[in-house]
Amino acid sequence: MNNDVISFTLTHSGTGETRTVTLTRAEIQECMAEEILDKLGAELCQCEPVGETNVVECNCTDYLDDFEFSDNDAVAIPKGVSA
Ligand SMILES: [Zn+2]
Repeated sequence: MNNDVISFTLTHSGTGETRTVTLTRAEIQECMAEEILDKLGAELCQCEPVGETNVVECNCTDYLDDFEFSDNDAVAIPKGVSA
């Protein structure tokens, strides 16, 4: 399903007015692309830090860079500017 929508209901504390905001899957993907990729990276990279540093030496980020959203209506991830 590419046409999923999620609704958020907000209530004004003063007037009690209730409004509902609806986001489409594509909008959420556009806004959350970084977070989604971070989550993917966290699941993907199980590498342990080397030695006493917190630096994880692995190629997971390179691998991660080549993932793209599969949905046909998905908003493309902004590609980093590269020479
Ligand atoms: Zn890794």
